[in-house]
Formats: sequence, structure tokens, C-alpha cells
Amino acid sequence: MSTNHDVRKEHVVLATHSNLRYPESLTLDWGNKDPMKRGPVVASQTNPKARNAIGTHSGSYTVYRALSIASGKFSPAHRPDLHNTHSPVKIGPFPSWFDETKIVSLDPWGLDPQNHFKGHFEKGYDIRPSIAVTQAHLQIPEIHDAIRAGRLKPDGKIIKENMDIKITKVAIEPVWFLPGMAKRLNVEEGVLRRILFTESGGMYPELITRPDLKVWLPPIGSTTVYIFGNPEDLSNPNIELSCRVHDECNGSDVFGSDICTCRPYLMYGIEHAAETAQKGGVGIIAYYRKEGRALGEVTKFLVYNARKRQEGGDSAATYFKRTECVAGVEDARFQEFMPDVLHLFGITKIHNLHSMSNMKYNAIVGSGIEVVNRISIPAELIPADANVEMEAKKAAGYFTEGEVKKGEDLQKVKGREIT
Ligand SMILES: [Zn+2]
Repeated sequence: MSTNHDVRKEHVVLATHSNLRYPESLTLDWGNKDPMKRGPVVASQTNPKARNAIGTHSGSYTVYRALSIASGKFSPAHRPDLHNTHSPVKIGPFPSWFDETKIVSLDPWGLDPQNHFKGHFEKGYDIRPSIAVTQAHLQIPEIHDAIRAGRLKPDGKIIKENMDIKITKVAIEPVWFLPGMAKRLNVEEGVLRRILFTESGGMYPELITRPDLKVWLPPIGSTTVYIFGNPEDLSNPNIELSCRVHDECNGSDVFGSDICTCRPYLMYGIEHAAETAQKGGVGIIAYYRKEGRALGEVTKFLVYNARKRQEGGDSAATYFKRTECVAGVEDARFQEFMPDVLHLFGITKIHNLHSMSNMKYNAIVGSGIEVVNRISIPAELIPADANVEMEAKKAAGYFTEGEVKKGEDLQKVKGREIT
């Protein structure tokens, strides 16, 4: 027979309700210029009464944390010791942080909250960082090739004598301000909350029961930013800025799979970012965990097979159609939220944008950032099997300085078959 104590531990609160708002829960005023009036996002689990957000930290890793706790290896009462964890460089605050429409999918004040919300920490609030900044050296074969070919030269600063590139990297967890998300998608907040609730299998009842809680930390992948040169220069429109906004493609980025241009385009962006920094400018690579156009890798591989087995073989003319047949949608990346990461760094002008995607370009320009030059991937960097994707995208209106194939010429662009 269980004791009272055990019963209490097993008692599960399915959802809190708006009429049971705890006095410990701090008010959040998204976009307020004064961090103390804006308030910290409290999504830790150590004191449920102090929470003012739905969901919890670490994105998709929430589930792994639960496994560690279930296995008895991790105490749910653990609170991080944030001593010495702060950013080595100063980032913000920028005017973009004070506009509740500019940044809606991350929490700029989640960077070093121990500095912004010192008083709350002293009162015992368990506020967790949702952004972290550190430094690293990159050792990349393509960059070594570029140095050997004479396109880049070590300068001892940006590129070390041993060919390492010195960078600053920033990890950003998703923190969604739901009214702002809804506004950008042009839907009612209530409708968005209901669909998020049902499509996650009812995972977050507070999306429905707590309309007073406006912030949700969704269980999705994070974003990583690599900065070449001085991070403080990113917000200065007079300093040349080269930028690649890249959506994760594990098969190409890490394993060198040749059906797409992801790794070559990423490496070209890194080379140019380093080169720009060496000239006194600054480079930024933003890497979003949106695998397979945010449809996931299983869907992506199914599409590859459907493309390669269709009558007439893998063809640029039917590239987007095959994705839609399998996935139900051509693309689920919602570039509308991508520029938030650029606004975190106060970026107002990009001199060289490494992207051919019209969706990315329109989202960036639509968010108020000026783009001077658009840089497409050089033809010699495109793997043979990736020409299907490249020609299909150009035919669909992606940016290019080269020719755009149509009709029969487009049909003739073929990829490898399944053997
Ligand atoms: Zn790819």
C-alpha cells in the first residue's frame, strides 16, 4: 500500500488554469525596453508556481532530460550554477529587441539572464538561459583547400597559421511569443494555439487552458550562429556583412551526400564569411535545425525514392511535385521566423546574402533588413546529381544570375536512378 507521500508524488496535474494564477508567476511584457518591466521567461520545473511560460527549456532534448530523471541519474531539483557561463562578447540590447513584432521566436533576454535579472535570481527565481555564446576554432577541409589554392590566406587573426578559423558561436533555443507568431502567420492566436495543441497529440494542454500565458518553449531543434570577425560589427550597417542562412541537411552537410547543394553552398558561405572578416567586415552563418524543409529526414528520403522511381526518372520538371505528393506540402520551413535570429544581433543591412531562395530573401527584406547583393552558388560547386534540385529551384523563381531552363530543357535535367 502506498503512503500519502507516494500518492502525492504520483499525483499529476494535467494542466493549470488561468483562474489559478500564482502570485509567484512574474508578468511578461514582450518587447518592453526595460528588462525588469519586460520580465524573464521562467520555464524551469523546480518551482511550478513561478512558471510564466508553457513548455520547458532545451527544445527537443526535454524528452532526454525526462529519460535521465526516470532512470534516476538526474535530480529534477538540479539548478544550474551559472558562474563563468556568460558570453565572452557583448550582444545587444538593440532596438529590434524592443519591438514586439521584430523578434517573436526567440528570447533575446535569455542571453545571460543572470545579468539582466539579478534581482530575481537573488529572490530565488530559477531562470535558465535560452541563448549561450562561446568561441571556437573551425578546421574545415574545404577551407584548407581554399588556402592551398590561394583564395584565402592565414592572417594570424581570423585565419590562424595552422589554417584554423577563429569564430564566435551562439546557440539559440526556440522561445515562441504566440501572439507575435500568430500575427506573422496571419491567423488568430486562439486558432494557432488549438492547432499546436492537437497536432502535438495534446502534448501541451496549457496552450488551451492558459490563454494568459503568451510564451511557449516548443520541443523543436535550436539554431546555431557562427560569427566571423567582431560580433559587435553585425549591427553596424557601414561595415560589410556577408551572411548565409542555412537550413540543416544532415546528409549533405555532414556526410557529403551528393543529391543536393547544401554542404557546397554552406562551405562557400563560410569561405566568403572568413574572407569578408579578413577585409575588415564581418561574416555570419545562421544554421537552422529544419531538416528536409522542416518535413523531417524520413519524409525526405521517401521523396528521394519517389523522385528516382517515377516514370521517366528523377527530373527537374517534377521535383517540387514529388515532394508535395509524399509530404502534402512543398516546404514547411516557414521562413517568416528565420530573420528573428538576424534581429537578435541588431542586423539592419546585409551586403552579401548567400541564398537563392526567394522565401528567405522575402522574409529578410520584409522584416526590414536591407539586402545589397544576392550570391548564388557557383556552377562548379554543384554536384552532378544535385542539378535536378538546382534547375527545379531556378525554374520556380529562385535567384540566379545564370540561365533558367524551361519546358523540354528542364525535363532533360535528370538524376541518378535507384539501382
Ligand atoms: Zn541538402
